Amino acid sequence: MKLIDSEVFDALMIAYNDLGFYVYNPHRPSLWSFGSVPDNVDAAFEQEDLLANRTDVFPVAGRNNIGIMIMKPFAAGHLVASKSTPPKDTKIRPSSDITASETLRSILSYSEVACVVPGMASVEEVEENVLAVSASISFSKKERSTYEQKLARVKSSLCSRCGDCHSSCSQNLPISWLFRSSYIAQHPPAVEESWDDVEYFSLHQNIESVCASCPSVTCHCPYGIDIRSSLMDIHNFITELRNNGLLVKPSERIESRSPCGRFRAKLLKKIELETVKNESSIGLRIHLENSGELPWLVWNQSKKTDARIIVLHEESLLHTESLHRTVMPLERTFLTVLFSVPRNMESSLINIKLVVPDEAGKEIPVSICSFETNSAKSV
Ligand code: SF4
Ligand code: SF4
Repeated sequence: MKLIDSEVFDALMIAYNDLGFYVYNPHRPSLWSFGSVPDNVDAAFEQEDLLANRTDVFPVAGRNNIGIMIMKPFAAGHLVASKSTPPKDTKIRPSSDITASETLRSILSYSEVACVVPGMASVEEVEENVLAVSASISFSKKERSTYEQKLARVKSSLCSRCGDCHSSCSQNLPISWLFRSSYIAQHPPAVEESWDDVEYFSLHQNIESVCASCPSVTCHCPYGIDIRSSLMDIHNFITELRNNGLLVKPSERIESRSPCGRFRAKLLKKIELETVKNESSIGLRIHLENSGELPWLVWNQSKKTDARIIVLHEESLLHTESLHRTVMPLERTFLTVLFSVPRNMESSLINIKLVVPDEAGKEIPVSICSFETNSAKSV
């Protein structure tokens, strides 16, 4: 707050949405009551209180004439379902029926907010977001009331990861982390928000649902979520994904190595973007983990080369896409590649490689995956 009051800034970018929380944040270390904090968890990271951003930060910024830019307005698809990568399953939690227009207009109604920065991954989403604010942004009383009712429905079915239930499980299950892992499985683009230790089958190692045979149902959610029944639904959902080859256990992920063995990468997910698929174009979102010990450098200006993804058909380069940022060991990243498929080709095999500069600027290739153009199945 002191910084905002210091008259140094003209603008401020913070997270806010009308849920008041961002589902994927890590949580207070004190809530790791079911065991020790895994080594790769930043124990100092606390859940960000988005409502406090509104009640505490908005007024101070307004008083200092600082424009606020809002990120995470759609709560990673939990408030407004993504059109480009819709939720995989709505059985564990119904999709929100809140529209982009309602959410954007609600946030822009705060006088301190200068702009909102929603994520967009398809033309349809761009159009929807632009149309939302092309007319009046004000709500009528009726519209506001409808929006509030929809918002209440989302809140009552979504675990906020408040942690109030953690010590209530007789079998020591990390309840809110299980909810979190299921939301990530339901929203595949969120996979980079996770790490091996907090994926579903790392947290719940039994093949059968622990809740289904629980001898003492002691869990309780003060916000009305039926934890036992929700966790049983989640287990069925995750098991189904796994049985269909759509969810890979961390231990089963294949790691690719560069020929020199110094760079390593794990393919976490490859999602085909249905919204850009047509006869001659393919859109893929590729999620990777840097499983090696060296960073994947971008903006390596002294060497004039960036870590990037290349798409090859036989030896021909179809597309190249730089990573958005340097990816350190154990970090995850994703990028979207759009490329045209040559017509009348004899072989339809597409190869995707990561190319990483080493300390000397030499470009080192790491094979990521290959697939036939007519079967770019999402994993
Ligand atoms: S299940 Fe309920 S009490 Fe437990 S973390 Fe989620 S919202 Fe909080
Ligand atoms: S039903 Fe599940 S969450 Fe509840 S106490 Fe039993 S094992 Fe724990």
